[in-house]
Amino acid sequence: MSSRNQNRPPRSPNARKEDHGGIPFDKRRKLETPGTGRRQAFSTVNKQDSTSNSDVGSIEECGKVEFTKDEVLALLNERPKAGKFDHKAKIEQMTDIIKRLKLCVKWFQQVDETHVQEKENLKVSLESAEQKYNYRELETRTKEEELNAIISMLKENAVSLHEKLAKEESCKQARLFDAIENHRKETESRVAAEKAQASLGEELERVKEEKTTAKHKVASLEDMYKRLQEYNTSLQQYNSKLQTDLETVRAEHTRAEKDKSSILENLTTLRGHSRSLQDQLASSRVLQDDAKKQKDSLVTEVTNLRSELQLVRADRDRQVVQSEKLAEEIAKYKENVGKSSQELHILIARSGSLEETCSLQKERINMLEQQLAIANEKQKMADASVSLTRTEFEEQKHLLCELNARLADMEHQLCEGELLRKKLHNTILELKGNIRVFCRVRPLLPDDGGRHEATVIAYPTSTEACGRGVDLVQSGNKHPFTFDKVFNHEASQEEVFFEISQLVQSALDGYKVCIFAYGQTGSGKTYTMMGRPEAPEQKGLIPRSLEQIFQASQTLGAQGWKYKMQVSMLEIYNETIRDLLSSNRTTTMELVRADSGTSGKQYAITHDVNGNTHVSDLTVFDVGSIGKISSLLQQAAQSRSVGKTQMNEQSSRSHFVFTLRISGVNESTEQQVQGVLNLIDLAGSERLSKSGATGERLKETQAINKSLSALSDVIFALAKKEDHVPFRNSKLTYLLQPCLGGDSKTLMFVNISPDPSSTGESLCSLRFAARVNACEIGVPRRQTSTKLLDSRLSYG
Ligand code: ADP
Ligand code: MG
Repeated sequence: MSSRNQNRPPRSPNARKEDHGGIPFDKRRKLETPGTGRRQAFSTVNKQDSTSNSDVGSIEECGKVEFTKDEVLALLNERPKAGKFDHKAKIEQMTDIIKRLKLCVKWFQQVDETHVQEKENLKVSLESAEQKYNYRELETRTKEEELNAIISMLKENAVSLHEKLAKEESCKQARLFDAIENHRKETESRVAAEKAQASLGEELERVKEEKTTAKHKVASLEDMYKRLQEYNTSLQQYNSKLQTDLETVRAEHTRAEKDKSSILENLTTLRGHSRSLQDQLASSRVLQDDAKKQKDSLVTEVTNLRSELQLVRADRDRQVVQSEKLAEEIAKYKENVGKSSQELHILIARSGSLEETCSLQKERINMLEQQLAIANEKQKMADASVSLTRTEFEEQKHLLCELNARLADMEHQLCEGELLRKKLHNTILELKGNIRVFCRVRPLLPDDGGRHEATVIAYPTSTEACGRGVDLVQSGNKHPFTFDKVFNHEASQEEVFFEISQLVQSALDGYKVCIFAYGQTGSGKTYTMMGRPEAPEQKGLIPRSLEQIFQASQTLGAQGWKYKMQVSMLEIYNETIRDLLSSNRTTTMELVRADSGTSGKQYAITHDVNGNTHVSDLTVFDVGSIGKISSLLQQAAQSRSVGKTQMNEQSSRSHFVFTLRISGVNESTEQQVQGVLNLIDLAGSERLSKSGATGERLKETQAINKSLSALSDVIFALAKKEDHVPFRNSKLTYLLQPCLGGDSKTLMFVNISPDPSSTGESLCSLRFAARVNACEIGVPRRQTSTKLLDSRLSYG
């Protein structure tokens, strides 16, 4: 038995706060984790309980209460020991057990809250740690990226600089090579030029020497020439002297001739003398001839000398020309030498500039190397900070792991607590009875006739019956009734829903739940079930249940639960099913035909071995949001209202069945649940005599009465644990068969109209409800339902 609740999902914190018995547990007590075995207080509870009155409210004065797991289990297994017919003792024992269970539930709720709180705290710290961790990680990453970017930039820079450097070096080398080559060439040419210059100098020397020799020669020649000229002059002088001599000779000759003539005259005169004179003449003639001869030889010599002079002059001219030529050549060489030295200077200047650029490059390289060193330093620093961040990150990770472990631990504890809670919750519900009856009296409406008549409904104020009793006065007779809960005309929709919210939670926990609204037409069944959707505070149980289920499923989603919801809505009219969500709505004609069993759609009801009901051709919608359900409810309401106008108040003449199937899977714990929530707005329960129906209307009323009595037959058969439960006697009971037996939970609202004219019907309704309320089908069935439950659990 202890295993049967283990695959139910945990409840939402919302639902947890609600107390099923209607007693608010405001004062929370500090509690410790169940199962620690450190608690002893159960005996205290027993003691307190034995001394306290049976009033449930006294629980609040009990002080600090704590339970151990064993105590809880013992409490769960505790059963009334009184004799079968000792109802009072049984009731007392039951009340006692209920009280302790409530205490236990309360204790558990507190433990649960502490867990939830702690879980929240852990979650918050986990989130913050995660955030911190994420932030650190992000920071580290960005830092790393930045540094990587800087490093790569620097590397690129360094590479480009290296390249540049290499290029520059190669360029420089090439230029240096060129310069060296040029220099070498120039040196060579210079050497050659110097050699040439030297040879030219030598030649110059030689030429100079030659020139000097030539000059010497010229000088000697000139000397000679001078001397020759002198000689010539002397010769000319001599010649002129000779000529003068000749003149004188000639004058002497003339004188001699004269002398001769004088002599010849003297000859004649002096013939004797003549002869001597002739001798003298002859000798003068010889002298003259000699002089002539001397003169001729001198003339020849002068001519010779002149020709020689001519030769010497020519030679001198030649020498001068040659020396001029040589001087020209020297000038040329000198020019060449100048050019070479200029080039040499240029080359030297260029090599100097190259050296300068080289040194500049070296400086730049040094600078870059320094930069690289700085960058390396920076990188090292960054690496250090990265490692620091890494260690921090590791620490955070470690912390995160620890927090996760703690969270998992807490979650585990929470799960265990949740299981225990479910067990307790279920036990409480079972102790209360799996069929419960709530009575709701609607307010007097303006249309009601009995406005000014005496009130027919009264609510007893005794402690016993407070909130649970209702008295109906009919012709002066007071008929007292007690139910699990009575809502007077002032009860709001919210208050009503608050009381059933635990049942709705049960559907989410994997139970099959049926909530019926029973009563005569106009007593407020539809108002209770559907309410007025247009006014939020007047929403009925159906929309409120759906809201709760969606909210709770979302809360449980955090614990790994995933839910799938399916909705179907149908009407049973004259034992015929009508699909309210069908896209091609059944027309009046079809309904009439359906009524006579000739409809195309069969809507055959089948149940599989897992207790799942299937209605053929019925529209089933998967719903994921409350919005979708709202639209479906609208569609259904419209569909019903269509029927209402066309089919003569059909809505009161048919049973409306809203079914929500909930399949939940928890992937982390591999738990599965499958719950069903049926909300049924029954057809008006007024008796035939009152409706005064005939014909079609009579048939309707008969069908309704038949199905309602089939419902009560089923309930009573279940209560009596009869072997045969007549589920098949009506469409409604057959449809709800899996949800009416076993460990399913059933709640019946009996709606009462305060209109005095309805007193008779109200009395009937209250009597019927009281009979149902007397059924204790929950507790005994617990023993026998294990198999059924197990089959349900095994299939989820
Ligand atoms: P039924 O479905 O049982 O035939 P209805 O739900 O249609 O009855 O109620 C009949 C009328 O009474 C409706 O106008 C409804 O709004 C009103 N009514 C019923 N219950 C309440 C209530 N608790 N408070 C206010 N009005 C109510
Ligand atoms: Mg109605």
